[in-house]
Amino acid sequence: MLELRGKKVSDGIKKYVSKELETLSFVPKLAIVRVGENPDDMSYERGATKKLKSFGLDVASYVFPQDISDEDFKKAFKDINEDDEVTGILLLRPLPRTINEKDIENMIDPKKDLDGISPINIAKVFAGDTSGFSPCTAEAVIEVLKAYDIELTGKRVTVVGRSMVVGKPVSMLLLKENATVTMTHTRTVDLKKTCSDAEIVVAAAGRAKMLNSDYCGQDAVMIDVGINVDENGKLCGDVDYATLDGKASAATPVPGGVGTVTTAVLAKHLIQAAKMR
Ligand code: NAP
Repeated sequence: MLELRGKKVSDGIKKYVSKELETLSFVPKLAIVRVGENPDDMSYERGATKKLKSFGLDVASYVFPQDISDEDFKKAFKDINEDDEVTGILLLRPLPRTINEKDIENMIDPKKDLDGISPINIAKVFAGDTSGFSPCTAEAVIEVLKAYDIELTGKRVTVVGRSMVVGKPVSMLLLKENATVTMTHTRTVDLKKTCSDAEIVVAAAGRAKMLNSDYCGQDAVMIDVGINVDENGKLCGDVDYATLDGKASAATPVPGGVGTVTTAVLAKHLIQAAKMR
């Protein structure tokens, strides 16, 4: 079984970013906006900062207290959004319930919206229009498949999950690549069959090791988006990777797979935002 390593994909994106950076007259700056001290957000922020800086890009964090009022956060967000020094924005979500997240999605400048949360960028993803930004994780899945020359045209792909962050956008991006896509969720009847009939499975359910080899067709490709913690406190995906040998032709590990590519896509989007100016 071929291990689809995120590092190889990320290195390819780094080459693109370095080449494009040379053509720009300024170093693009990412603003990471975080409210509160959620350890998952802080870990993602550290990873993204490290990756983008290693790509030669500028990153600044804007951190607000958990109890900030809706009004104060909107004022601060407006300033970041309108700051000419800020090329792109990554908003860590979910926001505290006291802040109206929908309003922020509507406020964010679509040209700075690197993780595709604004209604305009979402509409573009669903319309198959590539001029906007799609959610980085969804695009990372496509980057992995393309970097390893895995054909998508006409392929049966089952996506497990229908969230707006991963399941739905990745389904649209796969459709754009001419795959035949089946989107599944908790009400799907016989998930095992729907997965094992597919040539490619994209797992984004957020359930530790839920998909074992019974969910994998012979020689299928398993792409694991899940980031979970197993019973021993270790990081793991939605796919039970250890069971796949002899069944899958290729699979992404967790960690070291799709997650590694997500922040590289963020860097690519920052370059694209800089070029749009
Ligand atoms: P989410 O909002 O909780 O959505 C999970 C989706 O999976 C839902 O649509 C849910 O169906 C479906 N699902 C859950 N259990 C299922 C089951 N037993 N059978 C079939 N479908 C099931 O999660 P998310 O934000 O999309 O994230 C999914 C996973 O990706 C998480 O592990 C998250 O940590 C990870 N993630 C990774 C990255 C990265 O960079 N690699 C980025 C974002 C998220 P219903 O709609 O019916 O509830």
